[in-house]
Amino acid sequence: MWRKLDASILYNPVTFREDPGLVWEYYHYIRELVLKTKPNAGHIAVAQYEQKHASKKKVTVVTQNVDGLHSRAGTRNIIELHGNMFKTRCTKCNEVLVNTDSPICPALAGTGSPTSDKLVSDIKEKDLPHCKKPDCGGLLRPHIVWFGEVLETSILEKTDIVISKCNVCLVVGTSSIVYPAAAFPTIMAASGSIIAEFNIQPSPASSKFDFYFQGPSATTLPQALSD
Ligand SMILES: [Zn+2]
Repeated sequence: MWRKLDASILYNPVTFREDPGLVWEYYHYIRELVLKTKPNAGHIAVAQYEQKHASKKKVTVVTQNVDGLHSRAGTRNIIELHGNMFKTRCTKCNEVLVNTDSPICPALAGTGSPTSDKLVSDIKEKDLPHCKKPDCGGLLRPHIVWFGEVLETSILEKTDIVISKCNVCLVVGTSSIVYPAAAFPTIMAASGSIIAEFNIQPSPASSKFDFYFQGPSATTLPQALSD
């Protein structure tokens, strides 16, 4: 819980319109945290499996994660359903760019404390990240799908193709309650795919799947994907 703010308020385009500085403070905080972390053994096992079997099997990671750790682990074939906190999107021209700057702009340096009780940011909009195109200059936002926003059509189309061709699906570390991702394994199971869930505790969908592996995915995935 960042500053005790409900996720439905923090991940919300209305909040961003009203106080972009507050939302950017939050993203600055989590970007800096993630930049200090490394992919775990689970991320690495998936990336190594993709590389090792590239000639015979097509592996696609379809993720709701926005931390970019799969890519950092070396996964090449990836669909990020909800975006990526290290990508920005211009609110005017919609250009999406990778940005791993730390901090992303000078005004955010030293801000974003999760325990502060400030619910309004002091940072002026002009000091937040802006589009560098000379004919644009629009305010940049994190390239993340927020509440009330729809997933990109091209992303969903790519995912549909993967689902229609998939014969083995690993469902890893998800509550299986956020749609549309929660529906994907059920769709694949209906067309005959084998579904295996890896989770710390069973999800509402566990009983419908063929296999269930209990434990942290950083432990179970390397075991399951080794030769
Ligand atoms: Zn722009």
